[in-house]
Amino acid sequence: MTRTLIQGATVITMDRQGVLPRADLLVTGDTITEIAPTIVADDAERIDATGCIVIPGLVNAHMHTWQTALRGVAANWTLPEYFRKMHAGLATVFTPEDLHIATLVGALNQLNCGTTTLVDWCHNNRTPAHNDAAIAALLESGIRAAFFHGTPKPDPKPGETPFWELPHPRAEVERLLREHQGRDLLSVHAAVLGPHYSTLEVAQHDFRMARELGVIASLHQGGGPARTPGGWLALEQEGLLGEQINIVHGHALDDAQLARFCELGMSFSAAAESEMSQGHGHPLTGRLRKLGRAPSLGVDLESVLSGDMLTQARVALGIQRSLDNVAFREAEGSIPPTSTITADEALAWVTVQGARMLRQEHRIGSLAAGKQADLVLIRADLINMQPLHDPVAAVVFQASLANIDSVMVAGRWKKRAGELVGVDLAPRLAALQASGRKIVAALGLK
Ligand SMILES: [Zn+2]
Repeated sequence: MTRTLIQGATVITMDRQGVLPRADLLVTGDTITEIAPTIVADDAERIDATGCIVIPGLVNAHMHTWQTALRGVAANWTLPEYFRKMHAGLATVFTPEDLHIATLVGALNQLNCGTTTLVDWCHNNRTPAHNDAAIAALLESGIRAAFFHGTPKPDPKPGETPFWELPHPRAEVERLLREHQGRDLLSVHAAVLGPHYSTLEVAQHDFRMARELGVIASLHQGGGPARTPGGWLALEQEGLLGEQINIVHGHALDDAQLARFCELGMSFSAAAESEMSQGHGHPLTGRLRKLGRAPSLGVDLESVLSGDMLTQARVALGIQRSLDNVAFREAEGSIPPTSTITADEALAWVTVQGARMLRQEHRIGSLAAGKQADLVLIRADLINMQPLHDPVAAVVFQASLANIDSVMVAGRWKKRAGELVGVDLAPRLAALQASGRKIVAALGLK
């Protein structure tokens, strides 16, 4: 079995060992076998990581990777514009090939930015061939992926059943589970409409389906009025809520609902930058914090913003501190004596909380013996990070893509010394560009 010994790094474990100022980390096969001040392993390949900070691989808990070829196209759109122009417009012209190249380059960019686990929330998949193309791309990228099978949201044509009245296609989820569940580093789940975007009957069907198939049901909550007001109560009365339900956004939930959902163990994913930009409202972070809970974070849309998860952590931290500071000033007439959110919390959102959202915290999201070897080497000896007083603060506030030196997923290097491993990028970027131009041109957008 391959053994890799990473030597002499500052290690942020996000686990019981905390932050180790100088440590070695031994990887055997796909697993971390030891983290200690000094490890002797003569048969292992040695990596000199002096000057580096090792962190757990980042978890991007929500992204529509199919929009990678449309980078920047939706940068100035609000949510209603986005629904009209993206879901009812651009999305409708995607072929399986378009989905493949967008998902492949999007996933490779995640690896490049230090993300080792990607929740691909795929809801532009009108045929099984679209699903197969997206999954093939995720497997090809080598990222640890959770494929959340969703459904498209086109404007209904005359005589057509609107998307919000269509139960989730269970047979297709079953096929994907049969063919792909557990294949390499892939897991399959369901991206459902939920009561905000569907009728009660559809939400009941979809939640039941997820429970029976043993998959996570993730849903968007918020952005305009709910299709089924009171739907959540009906779903709870049927016993359909629990740890397997993941709410994305969620601003319009009232305090009582939020408290109840936390009690039921449901998880929450915020896409802070996308939410701020498109008009959702403020991320749920602070309201969850009052209930002793925390969100995972996601990029959501590369058609709007950058795919870099450290940026997401920083943005989410900034908006919550700002909200808390303003609230304190309004109540007390002065600046608060200290900050609410710490850098440690922000790093947890993009590591351990993402792992929790996927119910995989025993395997990923932190560094400890027995866990999967998903990790990132950050070059902390560059001009933008020296001197290093507080490694966690340096990662959250100073590190950028320029510092992401190496990325390992399940014991295999996906990025080394600043370069993706084994990827011929030029033809893929050319294909992505051609796909993006074709899609945009089909709708007359320049
Ligand atoms: Zn989304």
